[in-house]
Amino acid sequence: MASQESLVFADESELDNTLSAPQPWKILIVDDEKDVHESTTLAIGRELICDRALEFLHAYDAAEARRLLSNEQHIAVVLLDVVMESEDAGLQLVHFIREELGLLETRIILRTGQPGYAPELNTISRYDINDYKSKSDLTRIKLYTALTAAIRAYAQIRTLNGSRRSHAEIIRASKELLCQRNYHDFASTVITQLAKLLRLPEEGLACIKQGNRDLSHRSDLLVMGTAGDFRRYTCKPLTSLASSHITELVFESARTRDHLFTSDATCLYFSTPDNAEMVVYLSAGSPKNREINALLDLFATNISACIDNVRLLEQRHEYAFLDQLLNIPNRLSFLQALERQLSHPPDAQQVVLIDIDQFGALNDTIGSQNGDLLLKQIAARLQKSFREHIVARISGDTFGILGDAEKLTPEQVSQVFSRPFEIADSPHLLSATQGRVLLGDQTNAADVIAQANVALKRAKQTLRGGFQDFHQNMLAETENRVQMLQGLRRAFEQKRLFMVYQPKIALESEAVCGFEALMRWRTEKGTYVSPMDFIPVAESSGLIVPLGEWALREALTRITALREQSGMDLHIAVNVSMVQFAHPDFLNMLDTALHDCNADPSCLDLEITESFAMHDQSSVQALVGAIHKRGVRISIDDFGTGFSSLSYLEALKVHSLKIDKSFVDRIGAEHPDTRICEMILRLGQALELSVVAEGIETQEQMAWLQTQGCDQGQGYHFSRPLTVDQLSDWFAAHRAAIQTREKDK
Ligand code: C2E
Ligand code: MG
Ligand code: MG
Repeated sequence: MASQESLVFADESELDNTLSAPQPWKILIVDDEKDVHESTTLAIGRELICDRALEFLHAYDAAEARRLLSNEQHIAVVLLDVVMESEDAGLQLVHFIREELGLLETRIILRTGQPGYAPELNTISRYDINDYKSKSDLTRIKLYTALTAAIRAYAQIRTLNGSRRSHAEIIRASKELLCQRNYHDFASTVITQLAKLLRLPEEGLACIKQGNRDLSHRSDLLVMGTAGDFRRYTCKPLTSLASSHITELVFESARTRDHLFTSDATCLYFSTPDNAEMVVYLSAGSPKNREINALLDLFATNISACIDNVRLLEQRHEYAFLDQLLNIPNRLSFLQALERQLSHPPDAQQVVLIDIDQFGALNDTIGSQNGDLLLKQIAARLQKSFREHIVARISGDTFGILGDAEKLTPEQVSQVFSRPFEIADSPHLLSATQGRVLLGDQTNAADVIAQANVALKRAKQTLRGGFQDFHQNMLAETENRVQMLQGLRRAFEQKRLFMVYQPKIALESEAVCGFEALMRWRTEKGTYVSPMDFIPVAESSGLIVPLGEWALREALTRITALREQSGMDLHIAVNVSMVQFAHPDFLNMLDTALHDCNADPSCLDLEITESFAMHDQSSVQALVGAIHKRGVRISIDDFGTGFSSLSYLEALKVHSLKIDKSFVDRIGAEHPDTRICEMILRLGQALELSVVAEGIETQEQMAWLQTQGCDQGQGYHFSRPLTVDQLSDWFAAHRAAIQTREKDK
């Protein structure tokens, strides 16, 4: 390989390029006398000076000399006649060489036939003239001596200038390299700087060794830096290159740990004392010579220092951009990758956020150390399945994947969770919920993550284990929800929420047997927001917990008062949402509310929805059991809309089923369909559960339900939900109606 020694500059005998055939020194003879040309070449034409032959160029007047000087390169010495077509033609030519052409390295020996025309002393020093000789003085030996001295001076000046130029270029290149903060940019800069130094086109690629393997390991050699047409191979395996010729050259250079020069390619090998290795391929040939080798040696020394610098920066970067537990990119890194994609959008790119379902609960059960192991397994599986994508940990148990949308389908993600994970020798089957967003006209990465998050939240609300694609109107919906939540909080604080009570009627006697408490929100503008809209917002924000407690206390206070006033055994049904019910303090809250409101537990009926009752069966069953023990009843609301398991329903200690309004609507409809109502009624009878029909709006519906033996009914046919103020009037009217009916019987 290129050694680490600093650049040893070529000595005078090796100045001009290739080692194999040293170029002769070019000597330009300018003289209007043909004889002088002949005698000069005759005298010293066959001599070697500093181990090199001499090549003569001939000009017979100043004009010809000018043309030759302008076109020929590397003229070492000009033997110049002072007097030619004019007395100072030679001196004018000197002016032309130094001032106009700027040729400062070429040595000039003035020769004159007429000693009287000697130049002024200041001309000699001003134009850097090596020698002034009278032609008659120039014997063969004197000519040889004068030329040797001039050529030596020329060579030394060239060497000095060459090394100054190389130094300046290396310093400039090194400055560039030191500015690079990661391997990719560093490797790309090495290519361009090397191309500049070697005067080659900026086309090529570079591989850097990372880790302990050496570069000749073909399988994991990555293209780290690229330039020109090779850009598309950045970060791809070297073997993905279309040309195996290039791959072989790089491998060969890595294997032999040396530079390779061919007619159409240059492969340069660098290594550092710390065993970092790098191969740079440039797609043009360059001559192999000592000068280039020396330049590369000096460059190698600088590369070594710069690689160390980049390595430190990469380490710092790794620390900041790598998830320390899972050893995969972290959120910051994901955002950066995303930002890069947005600035150079390739075809259809997708971002998927993956949230592990119930991970918090699982973590509590298996312990956080096992939880960490589980996350590691998940990360490893995701990385394996999505090799070509970027897999990162976004937060706790949320992962992000970025890449080609076609290869990132919901099914492919779900597939990762199809087999159980092994923790402490026991299998754990997990599911994950996905929020997905396609990259399009988003302008920043944080927006994309926010969009994916909106989709993920939505997916979690609707279907755990499923997925949701983001679409624009979700943002407006989210905005509305945020505003609604703020309004609801304010309304709750300012006591603008209140409860209404819808009577429940015992269908056989048509007498009131209780009420369902329903929440109402009157806005500052005096309009009402439906609980169908605000309850889900309260649920998703957790506000439902204090809200629900307040509703329960209101309802218990009201029913206790009504029972006292009427002396009747009235019940109160209170809706309880899933979030409240699952709250660890629920039972405690229930007990305190009953106690504080001085309420009889047997007058309370908690309504839970069918989908929730069937949700997490074992924990719901335990809770329902505990509530049942307190004498509090449980009803299953909106029954018929979920997917109840009948055996489970049988085991659950519930008191009644409420037939959803949508089925009651079908009784007495234009195309009546009473099958589901009949089925629920029969089920209730079989399981000895009371059945309540909700949403009864017509006499016909009521009559049909009565004939079918439905226990209770509720609906606009009897009464709309009533405010506290309306309640006593309604109560009085209802009792009067019942009494009249009794009398009529
Ligand atoms: P839900 O528990 O099924 O309540 C029955 C809904 O049907 C009530 O709507 C009621 O006003 C309406 N309704 C009763 N009879 C009729 C009728 O004959 N025709 C029609 N068209 N509608 C009738 P509301 O009050 O708008 O409540 C909607 C849902 O909001 C409730 O459904 C319940 O799930 C929820 N909700 C209401 N208040 C609360 C509360 O305090 N806590 C919780 N967690 N949820 C509540
Ligand atoms: Mg209800
Ligand atoms: Mg209902």
